[in-house]
Amino acid sequence: MDDGARLLRPGDPPAFSVHQADGASPFVLVADHAGQRIPSRLGDLGLPRDELDRHIGWDIGIAGLTSKLSHRLGAFAILQTYSRLVIDCNRPLQAAGSIVESSDGTEVPGNAGLGDEERACRAREIFAPYHARIARELDRRSAGAEAPVLVAMHSFTPVFGGLARPWQAGVLYQRDARLAHALRHALMQEGLVVGDNQPYAVSDATDYAIPVHAERRGLLHVELEIRQDLIGDEAGQQEWADRLARILPGLLPALRDHARSPRGCRRCGARRAAAGPPLRRSRR
Ligand SMILES: [Zn+2]
Repeated sequence: MDDGARLLRPGDPPAFSVHQADGASPFVLVADHAGQRIPSRLGDLGLPRDELDRHIGWDIGIAGLTSKLSHRLGAFAILQTYSRLVIDCNRPLQAAGSIVESSDGTEVPGNAGLGDEERACRAREIFAPYHARIARELDRRSAGAEAPVLVAMHSFTPVFGGLARPWQAGVLYQRDARLAHALRHALMQEGLVVGDNQPYAVSDATDYAIPVHAERRGLLHVELEIRQDLIGDEAGQQEWADRLARILPGLLPALRDHARSPRGCRRCGARRAAAGPPLRRSRR
């Protein structure tokens, strides 16, 4: 390939970073929206710094939380380096949200009217190697004694569309609610308000990591959303890392013994997992 066709150039960081590559914990943490870098060839996508810094550019706080949780658990973690505005690594490549021309009222000039080759370039150099690394890790760990458990780490903006969101966290899932409901119950026992497939729900049309890496493999999993104002600084990230590291391992023994259940959770009242794609919601 000639250099003119390449997206990433010397000086641009790799598409992802890994923490605790040999971590013994069964948990595998993925953070699709951890980073906010932009490949040098794309400049600033035509956006001012304050737009790139807000929630449309990345999941605020999630890189710090995920790396801290990785170290507390001794768990493999992979963090995507580039802004979700370059290409969204939690969207199928054919989804409208893969490379957005606008997000939460902000036009993204650098994404306007992209041709197939530019789209393919972003997919080839960012999306593909990131997901290949996750697949390789899950393959390796699935061959071991203890099946891996996928936790997709995300954060959500406290106010969206003029409405303040009441949840401190949310557990998201589609076809298998085992870990999501167990985690929700544990967090609620600590007095937290925890959304059940809120503020978003997982679907094949709008999500990638959970349907592809967890559901297809039959792995225990949850997509976890934390409200951004709670993890905006290091103290908040440490508090949530400590909380999740204390809770998560203890949930597994009871879940390992149960095949995925269509029932809702009798303890916390969470509804049953959908048999197919649930409601589509816009994802912010
Ligand atoms: Zn996210």
